[in-house]
Order: sequence, then C-alpha cells, then structure tokens
Amino acid sequence: MSTPLYARYPFLDAARAAVGELGVDVETLIQEGAPAVDRGRERVERALLAGRVDSETPDEWRDEDELLSYPIARILVSLLDSGAAIDKYAAAEAKTAVQRLNDDFEAGDDGLKSTTSARLDRETVLEELGLSTAIRPEANQPNREPEWFRVGVGTYLRLASGSRSDSWRLVNREVGGGDVRVAREELFALLRTAIRRRVASGLPFEGLTEGEGIVEPLADELGELRRLLSERTAVGQIDFVNRELFPPCIDNLLGKAEQGIELESFESFTLMAFLTGIGMEADEIVDFCAESSLDPEGIRYQTEYLKDDRGTQYPPPSCETLSAYGICHNENDHWKVAGHPLAYYQARLEATDDLVDWREKQAEKAD
Ligand code: SF4
Repeated sequence: MSTPLYARYPFLDAARAAVGELGVDVETLIQEGAPAVDRGRERVERALLAGRVDSETPDEWRDEDELLSYPIARILVSLLDSGAAIDKYAAAEAKTAVQRLNDDFEAGDDGLKSTTSARLDRETVLEELGLSTAIRPEANQPNREPEWFRVGVGTYLRLASGSRSDSWRLVNREVGGGDVRVAREELFALLRTAIRRRVASGLPFEGLTEGEGIVEPLADELGELRRLLSERTAVGQIDFVNRELFPPCIDNLLGKAEQGIELESFESFTLMAFLTGIGMEADEIVDFCAESSLDPEGIRYQTEYLKDDRGTQYPPPSCETLSAYGICHNENDHWKVAGHPLAYYQARLEATDDLVDWREKQAEKAD
C-alpha cells in the first residue's frame, strides 16, 4: 500500500508505520509550521463546522501533508479539552472515510479495484479493523460487491449499539447460525461506528499542555479552533421566528441561498446555528429554506449535528468572528447594539410589539 492510500485513510494501523517511513517527526513539523499543520487545523475546523474532514481546497495539499495532518489534528483536538469536540471529530473522520470506502467499493464493482493504489478494498479494511472473521459476504460474485453480509452476533451488538432506529434491534433482524444478516448499506453504518471508535481511541492525548513543549507553536491554530467551539452568548432561550428582525448578517446569508448560490461551509454553519438558536426544529428549517440552495438532507444533518441532548450546542459565531470571515459588514454600526447575532435578534424582539411568529402563519396557511 502507499502514501496516497494512507492519505485517504490515515486512521489505519499501517498508516502510522507509513508516517514513520516518511522520516519526519511531528514535533519538527509543528516547529516549522509545515503545511500539514495548517491542514490539521482545517481537518478539525471542518469536523466541528461541517461534520466531515475532507479539505475544501484538496489541490492545495500533497498526499504527504494529508497523511501527516492526521496526527496533528489529533493533537489539536486533544488540546481543545472538550469531550464533545473529540466525539464530533471522530464522527467526522468516520463519515468521510465511509464515503471514500463507498466510492472505492463501487470502483471495485466495476472491476477497477487494482487500477490504483489509493483505493481500499473491503477485505483490507475489515482486516485492518479486526473484523475479517466476524463480517463475511453472503455470496461472492466476480467483480461485484455482495449485497448481503453475515455479521457475528457479538460484533453486531457491539457496533449497532447506540443506533436509535428500531430496525437495528436484534428482535427485528434475521438471525441464524450465530450471525445477523445485514444489507450492504447497513454494513457501511457498522463500519462507520468501528472507524469512529478507532479514531476516538487514545484521545485525548495525555501529557500535552497548551503553550508548552512541542505544542507551544500551535497557539494560533488552537486559538482559532477554541473560538469556534466556545463562542457562547448570554442570551436567554429564544423561541420565536420573525425574519424581519433577523440581523443583516443572517438575512444576507439567507438571501444569498435564496438566489440559488451555494453557501460556504462556514456560512451554512452560521445560518443553521442561528436558526436552531432561535428555537427552530429541522423540519421547520427545511420549510423555511425551501426556496433556497440549501438541500433538506444537508439541513437535517447539520441541525442534528448542532444540537445535543441539552439543546443547542453550537451557537452561531460572534459578531467579531463573523466580521473576520467577511460575513458581517456592521451595517449602521449595530455592533453597538449587541456583540452577537442572537443577542441582537433578542434585543430587537424585546423592542418590537405585535409580532407574529412565522410558524403561526405557516399553521394558518395549512388550515
Ligand atoms: S454586527 Fe453582529 S449581528 Fe450585526 S450583522 Fe454583524 S455579525 Fe450580524
């Protein structure tokens, strides 16, 4: 196997050996501010904002940068000192890996398996994840990925635990000979769990102290990531939707999407975080953004990702950050009103009488 393959699947055991063979150590990379450091920061930023880790500018990075960015991303996410950040990072690595596996297996279906060393086949990934004896294809057809697989009950229970859907419960499965029958799509879901756990294992790294030792030069990268994570605002619980009172930054983003323009990941994160922050559910946001470039599946994924059991986990970024990203133009100098889009919206709600919630209007239309 090769560096291009490990660049796409850096969590593999063999990838670790490949890092060693490159003859560079992570400490030196960090000290020199190598491209892998910047890509490592992007990796974590993408995980936190978009739930995936592939680069927005893939042509900018060599396979070597991509591979070496993985251990650096793990250091960065460890230093964030947040269990939620580690969970989201591991989930994002797993999501991206499974999308790539899907592509690679399909290429295998076309009989192209051996045409590039950057593709991973099913046998190898199962072997790498220690699942080759527990997960077996039901029938082998030449040059075609099987549609069904048999998974040992113990492995199935281990990997399916935490799945909310009833269809994963053992009583609803076809079980025989100590195996559970799963479809190809379900296999990817199980692999996603296995990869997520592989990525999360060993995190956070022990013995790293921000500002000291090998991580001292990472201060800027950490500052940026921490700002994304920790921007919280003191606004109360908002549960009211009135577009006329949205701050200009949010209204501009909505307007852009309504013109059919694809939003950058930071822009759609900001918009979704604002809409969930004012109390909207995923289905409501789908309706609210029906005439825009935002697709329902992406909205549902992003809103689910923004919330945890305790409510909104990621508020939208502050005015300062939105200004740094060029999203805020500080119209009419309204930074003076509030330092955060949610606080600004709440202040306007409190100052305006006779308001009607967009949801009420929707309900009236439906009657
Ligand atoms: S000052 Fe804040 S609320 Fe107003 S447009 Fe800028 S980012 Fe939005």
